[in-house]
Amino acid sequence: MYSGGHAGRDRRVDVRNYLSPLAEAREIAPKGFGSFAVTPIPMGTIIATFGGIVVNRVNFETYPLEQRSRSIQIDVNQFVLGPESREPGDSINHSCLPNCGMRNATQLIAMGPIAVGEELTYDYAMSDTSNYVEFECACRSDNCRGRVSGNDWKLPELHSRYHNMFSPYVQRKIDATRTARPLSKRDAENLMNNYDINPQQALMLALRITTGMPNASWNTLIDLCFTDKQQSELLQTLDQQSLDQLAQQLNERRTL
Ligand SMILES: [Zn+2]
Repeated sequence: MYSGGHAGRDRRVDVRNYLSPLAEAREIAPKGFGSFAVTPIPMGTIIATFGGIVVNRVNFETYPLEQRSRSIQIDVNQFVLGPESREPGDSINHSCLPNCGMRNATQLIAMGPIAVGEELTYDYAMSDTSNYVEFECACRSDNCRGRVSGNDWKLPELHSRYHNMFSPYVQRKIDATRTARPLSKRDAENLMNNYDINPQQALMLALRITTGMPNASWNTLIDLCFTDKQQSELLQTLDQQSLDQLAQQLNERRTL
């Protein structure tokens, strides 16, 4: 039980995002926020953990831009939505020369030792592969990409620089780019032979080849391949005409 004299300090504050006590969030003039080391931070220290409700892309896009900017993508079609108002743990900026990386989908760790006063940053390409992450970068590092986009995770120089520092779903996407391939003649024959028996199963096997994702679910495959909301929804609900079109396209072009 609290027994100190400062009653005001006893107020419990619930936050969804954790920030290490070795750091603090500060306002940066003219209008912005950042998090800074207040003691030396050793390599591997957990810096922050992002928390909040998980929403899919369609729901995510209904929230204000400011709130979305404090959110993090954790899977192809899942986002941890930032809280309604800013918290210390959701004030970590992007840098093209970051000192933190993703330990898993929601945790940041120090990539190396961090000195007192240094700003804590990570590269949004480590976690986000959506176009809501697009802005002119002001990190002013030698590595600065200028414009940061939701496609930056594809850049080969980042793959070697951030080894083991990508969110797991981003790493799966990177690995998939190396194994994805068009269907062989035989794959296309299998697709058409099996399509009449079980259309979804036949298409799923084909899409796993073309995406390079051998374990992906139907929903993940559709989310990966179709950004058009209407088309994606028709395929998710197994609309017969849309399935037929997809099978025809894969049979003719062997890829998407
Ligand atoms: Zn930059």
